[in-house]
Amino acid sequence: MTLDSESAALFDHVVRRNPAEDEFHQAVFEVLEAIQPALRRDPGLRDAALLERLCEPERQVLFRVVWTDDAGRAHVNRGFRVGFSSALGPYKGGLRFHRDVSLGTVKFLAFEQIFKNALTGLGLGAGKGGADFDPAGRSDAEIMRFCQAFMTELHRHLGPNTDVPAGDIGVGGREVGYLFGQYKRLTNRFDAGTLTGKPPLLGGSLARPEATGYGTVYFLDSVLAAGGATLADRTAAVSGSGNVAFHAIAKLRELGAKPVTCSDSGGFVHDPAGVDLDVLHEVKNVRRQRLAAYVEHVPSARYFPGETPWAVPCDVALPCATQNELDEQAALTLAKNGVLAVAEGANMPCTPAAVRVFREAGIALAPGKAANAGGVATSAFEMQQNAARDRWTFEHTDRRLKETMAAIHEACLSTADEHGMPGDYVTGAAIAGFRIVAEAMSGLGL
Ligand code: GLU
Repeated sequence: MTLDSESAALFDHVVRRNPAEDEFHQAVFEVLEAIQPALRRDPGLRDAALLERLCEPERQVLFRVVWTDDAGRAHVNRGFRVGFSSALGPYKGGLRFHRDVSLGTVKFLAFEQIFKNALTGLGLGAGKGGADFDPAGRSDAEIMRFCQAFMTELHRHLGPNTDVPAGDIGVGGREVGYLFGQYKRLTNRFDAGTLTGKPPLLGGSLARPEATGYGTVYFLDSVLAAGGATLADRTAAVSGSGNVAFHAIAKLRELGAKPVTCSDSGGFVHDPAGVDLDVLHEVKNVRRQRLAAYVEHVPSARYFPGETPWAVPCDVALPCATQNELDEQAALTLAKNGVLAVAEGANMPCTPAAVRVFREAGIALAPGKAANAGGVATSAFEMQQNAARDRWTFEHTDRRLKETMAAIHEACLSTADEHGMPGDYVTGAAIAGFRIVAEAMSGLGL
């Protein structure tokens, strides 16, 4: 598949207008490519510059963040918040703290969020933010001061019906708590629905930490079920060892699969007995060590520095680390080893060439827009609980998550079918999400 001439011209325009933002270009290209069948069927989808509007963020906020470390030294970072689309609801999407974060990264993530959030059916616009701050090795007090400095600038742009950030890489419950504390201090309001992923006592939803990883596995389970298979006894290769990977591994184990790998930016662990969650928790969350320390606790496991897990033979693969982590070579290896399905727990973890390999080999690929939508869906549940001053049980929230993932799966499959591409989740997810947001944009007028 490639772009028709009108879409190609729009893509060139996006590239020229957003120089040196490769990840954003990639995300736009992938969506424009995937929605070609819908544009062919309904040329009206191009009316009123709809596609160009879709590719141009409604607003972009860039700000300086100055904070002091424990030695009293001042540091300057750059903060970002992109509100990409409010057609369906308040801007919604996480904050990423990582040294590589740039405007292009945030724009790509916010763009992905448009379709993902639309697919949840929960009235969510799309945004993303973050900072080029490296939390590694920083003390708790330093993290707190950074979060406070970040929110001192960002707070004026937020609100429960305006823009609602959450966590992403480098931002978990602790950081969201500090961010919310500063928001509350500055605004004199306990507007709990301004941030999601809060610690439970501050109004956070139960099952929110689990939601992205669990949701990815629920989606994968549906993918296998559609082909008459199950997760039981399947070997799973998982990348990452943060929040998404951890809870994906937990749910895989619960459903009878055997997740045998996890990774960080330094390398990966292969534990043929199945990744031990107590050890992973101890290493990553309690001691905040590098993943290499895993093998000190589990001598039968091996650590492979500088490598990714994709050469380990597996039935299902779950890239849950970061963008473009699974390349063409890795996809070819997975295909050669007979992988049945790939579910993206991270955002855009497969490179375009890897996507092509899976598609040509007929391997089911569940794209992040659909497969990892459980996190943001549960953020919407958190907003509902905050607005109603209610608190759902873990079981109720998990049930709503499961229902949402099943509905997204169904929407992807039926949309792919309708466009003559049965089983193509990449096409199904992009078109289903696009149609929802396109209809909302048309309804709102220019
Ligand atoms: N960062 C998550 C994502 O990529 C969650 C966003 C949210 O909950 O707002 O979808």
